[in-house]
Amino acid sequence: RAAPVFSRASAYGDSVAITDHSGSHTYRSLYKNSKSLAGLITKALTCQSGDLQGKRISFLCASDASYTVAQWAAWMCGGIAVPLYRKHPPSELEYVISDSQSSLLVAGQPFMDTLEPLAQKLGLPCLQLPTTSSLDTLQSEDTQTLPEENISDWAERPAMLIYTSGTTGRPKGVLHTHSSLQAMVQGLVSEWAWNRDDVILHTLPLHHVHGIVNKLMCPLWVGATCIMLPEFSAQKVWEELISSKSPMVNVFMAVPTIYSKLIEYYDQHFTQPRVQDFIRAVCKERIRLMVSGSAALPQPILERWADITGHVLLERYGMTEIGMALSNPLKGPRVPGAVGVPLPGVEVRIMMTNSTNAIIAEGNNKGTKVKAGLEGKEGELLVRGSSVFQKYWNKPQETADTFTEDGWFKTGDTAVYRDGVYWIMGRTSVDIIKSGGYKISALDVERHLLAHPDITDVAVIGAPDPTWGQKVTAVVQLKKGKTLNLSQLKTWAREHMAPYTIPTGLILVEDMPRNQMGKVNKKDLLRQFFLARSD
Ligand code: ATP
Ligand code: MG
Repeated sequence: RAAPVFSRASAYGDSVAITDHSGSHTYRSLYKNSKSLAGLITKALTCQSGDLQGKRISFLCASDASYTVAQWAAWMCGGIAVPLYRKHPPSELEYVISDSQSSLLVAGQPFMDTLEPLAQKLGLPCLQLPTTSSLDTLQSEDTQTLPEENISDWAERPAMLIYTSGTTGRPKGVLHTHSSLQAMVQGLVSEWAWNRDDVILHTLPLHHVHGIVNKLMCPLWVGATCIMLPEFSAQKVWEELISSKSPMVNVFMAVPTIYSKLIEYYDQHFTQPRVQDFIRAVCKERIRLMVSGSAALPQPILERWADITGHVLLERYGMTEIGMALSNPLKGPRVPGAVGVPLPGVEVRIMMTNSTNAIIAEGNNKGTKVKAGLEGKEGELLVRGSSVFQKYWNKPQETADTFTEDGWFKTGDTAVYRDGVYWIMGRTSVDIIKSGGYKISALDVERHLLAHPDITDVAVIGAPDPTWGQKVTAVVQLKKGKTLNLSQLKTWAREHMAPYTIPTGLILVEDMPRNQMGKVNKKDLLRQFFLARSD
């Protein structure tokens, strides 16, 4: 019995699975080329040692069809696919290859020069993939010996090691099985009504769940089409969104910073009302779903995007360890700033973080119950369900520490259930600021500060302070040509915010240091502005 993903691919035959800069790739050709690559990998690995099962295969590919070919080939060999990121420097690539104890590297054509020296240094074989336009030239006589067809227990087999973003420490290798990946996909397919006619535009890096699962595995699961851009370009995205060339995009997903760049481009280039009306009409008519996630979506972006396209972005919440857990609805009202309710198959809890360990709220896709007397209380978000990962790679202590005795995964994020939906207040470790006896959510303060007319981006941190414990400090990027000092900010804030949440520190930056997934590393900010100074 073949793994579900391949049996589905075979069934979709000559439908177009991926369109990239080289043209169209059908499900049949993806399947055939993966099988050829799997034959080559099997041969290379069998020469090393007889046993292929569970071997880690790191691969570095462009954002095109070659990525899926490498991923499927690793699975056909019974291996664990480890996606590398093309923008990582060699030291970071080496960290992932070494930490995952990979046995073999697969280099997409443009990346041979990057991976070859690492392969030599680490004594690993490195297979080169042809360019995406020449994938059909992959040949192997060894496809008869693939373990693919002989494996009957796919579900519980490890499938992928995905590294976390490294926002709170060194990236951790998160091990997912075929069944946890499948659960992630099925939850989204059912909730967001993925279907075979869908065409999604893919513009995100392919080493995180957002790019791998939500934007690529979901469409391929249902037989839809994924248009892959080699990298993000605001101009190209706009062209694709409004293009009348087939296949026409009807689903789009991105991180908040991408939406902000698209808005910036729109404001600079689409100034004529006639063009604006055209864009709004096309987006409204053709596109059925636009999603934001990976970091909190600022309300000004949500509102402006709705003005431009007529779409209220669907915000959802997820993590490498669990896939997507909470989502605003496909149909029905989406609450700005909130992340909706649990996806099908996901159970969540909000727990007190003090010694009582009381359950504040507990819910699933059918509803949430709140303990009487604890309404509106914040606590740690816990998740349980079949999409939850198996373990952190080679980190038994971290794995044990992150699960409760009864099997709930502790997300490390603080959440609250209010007005029938869940709200993420931030990471317990860096976003919950303890100042003079108060616990203040940095995300909440950010939500308020983003309403300031001169602020375009903000990250709130808890600066160390001998008197208060921590001081609410706003790291702010201003709109072009604007100025702001702390006393002006405080004057404005007194009219809009609770007194104890008003920033008592202000740091202005030219550019907010957000990574490719739109995240700010607040530990780095603290190091940069505070710890380094006291060194
Ligand atoms: P590391 O675990 O290495 O520190 P990371 O947690 O940033 O990195 P990911 O698994 O990519 O790595 O990110 C998951 C985190 O992203 C969540 O724990 C949460 O803090 C944040 N996040 C995701 N979606 C949202 C959202 N809609 N709103 C607020 N935060 C979000
Ligand atoms: Mg994390």
